[in-house]
Amino acid sequence: MPPMKSSYDVIVCGAGAAGSVIAARLSEDPGRSVLLLEAGGHNKRLSVRAPAAFSSQFNSKLDWEYWTEPEENLFGRSLHEPRGKLMGGCSSMNAMMYVRGSAYDYDSWVDQGATGWSAEECLPYFKRSEDNADLHDRYHGKGGPMHVETNDPDPVTRRIVDACVEAGFERLDDLNGAQQEGVAFTQVNHKNGMRHDAATAFLGPAQKRPNLTIVKGALVHRVIVRDGRVETVEYSQGKKVTTVGANDEVVLAAGAFGTPEILQRSGVGPADHLRSVGVDPIVDLPAVGRHLMEHPFQFVNWELAGDEIGLADITHPKHLAQWVATRKGKLSSNVGEALAFFRTDPSLPAPDMELVIAPLFFWEHGKVAHPRPAFSIGLSYVGPTSRGSVMIGSSDPTQKGKVRLNMLSTDAEVAAIVRGVHKAREVAAMPALAGTRGLELNPGVWVEDDYALAQWVRSTVEHTYHPTCTARIGTPEEGACDAELRVHGVPNLRIGDASAMPTITHGNTHAPTLMIGERCAAFIRGEKAAPVAAGTAAATATA
Ligand SMILES: Cc1cc2nc3c(=O)[nH]c(=O)nc-3n(C[C@H](O)[C@H](O)[C@H](O)COP(=O)(O)OP(=O)(O)OC[C@H]3O[C@@H](n4cnc5c(N)ncnc54)[C@H](O)[C@@H]3O)c2cc1C
Repeated sequence: MPPMKSSYDVIVCGAGAAGSVIAARLSEDPGRSVLLLEAGGHNKRLSVRAPAAFSSQFNSKLDWEYWTEPEENLFGRSLHEPRGKLMGGCSSMNAMMYVRGSAYDYDSWVDQGATGWSAEECLPYFKRSEDNADLHDRYHGKGGPMHVETNDPDPVTRRIVDACVEAGFERLDDLNGAQQEGVAFTQVNHKNGMRHDAATAFLGPAQKRPNLTIVKGALVHRVIVRDGRVETVEYSQGKKVTTVGANDEVVLAAGAFGTPEILQRSGVGPADHLRSVGVDPIVDLPAVGRHLMEHPFQFVNWELAGDEIGLADITHPKHLAQWVATRKGKLSSNVGEALAFFRTDPSLPAPDMELVIAPLFFWEHGKVAHPRPAFSIGLSYVGPTSRGSVMIGSSDPTQKGKVRLNMLSTDAEVAAIVRGVHKAREVAAMPALAGTRGLELNPGVWVEDDYALAQWVRSTVEHTYHPTCTARIGTPEEGACDAELRVHGVPNLRIGDASAMPTITHGNTHAPTLMIGERCAAFIRGEKAAPVAAGTAAATATA
């Protein structure tokens, strides 16, 4: 690593999904010095590399381990929100599903003021990141840093996909192409049987550049703003506090919890709240930390009948030995091996339910085991309307903010998930699963009518690990930054991560966050908007 300087042209705070993209892209220009500050450590670990081991990172030192405040619509339950505290951030902890969402998402961002973010305008930036091994058409990129390939799933997953088709889902090759509604094997960020996270993909080739400095174990406290510009960034490594200068710009890429926390500690946020916790307000932006959106996630599980066991024996040492020797076998599964999208209400503008198909028992983040082989259909409700918040409780950077998801604040959201449970049961009842489907474990056949199902949903629902929108593009009243990601009132400070989404996408959030990282870097480089791809269809159509 080059010796530390007193100032850098650009300082990127957070080396997660988007921060890795931004630091790598900006350091492609040898004339620009870039400092990347990351609170966590390295990501060269078995639990990161072996795809199926991701949930073993939960509650470890690799997890920021946020817990929500008691959720009033979930009978007062607090939910665990794991967040990756390591190089690659959640990109090094996630389930590797590569899903862009619906064209409707990006087109509706434009309607909300995010000029230049339509599906067609975002498509070139998705493709710029991508190295797709299997799909070669106008929707997909080749030769980009991030490897994408299509799963070769377990036989149990194949049967469930066949059952989806029998239940009326269209079989697709690509949920990121012309049509999102249907069922397909999951596209994943895997390479050679290993996770391909953003730090590996983007920073791997960039880390030896003399103009890129990466500091691990660096907790960003705040940015120091004078006369409407960030002058310095304050961070600590252990007890040592350092201040480093920013010649041009600072990018906050600390994730949907970390980014609004840094903004608020810096005096950029809701002035009343900041005063109440002892922070002097500098720019009054009431929406910073608000508008938190997350996808509810409800699992339905069945025991497996017959001879197939799916991934039930995945912890057996023989699978580890096979993976170490060949990078193949059960540990190379991302668990969510196939996906299906549908509308719980035909009048909706985009599919609002994503079925995540897994050939094992998955319940409470994988913390609860079942003694016999099972399979799961997760219902990720990708059309939520509830908004929560993340608010600091003090100016102390070692104290995490208070997270309130305010999940399921409307009965309509619960009703959509209940319709999802009915759909999952319909799939499980199909002939393709006769002889494979055993006892329904959750909710259990006795939980039958919609009222009972709704109560069960409120008492057991989790989330899909997708917090977003807490420093979003929008007006100074409704958002934190403009459409080029510049923070209102502090134009050399940008938001470069999932916090910037105006509303949450109808799908998993990693691929959209990589795209936001590409766009943030392009704005800083002063690049003209990338040309819109030829053709007429949208980037990922609403179907
Ligand atoms: C368990 C899990 C499973 C998931 N599965 C999927 C999936 O299969 N597909 C999908 O599309 N999405 C998935 N996601 C979500 C996806 O990974 C995230 O949306 C995405 O990584 C968000 O990127 P980000 O850059 O906004 O934040 P992050 O990737 O969280 O990066 C933020 C970085 O900032 C660092 N940081 C935070 N605060 C500070 C500070 N004060 N100082 C310095 N550094 C700081 C963090 O340590 C982290 O490295 C999953 C997430 C989790 C946790």
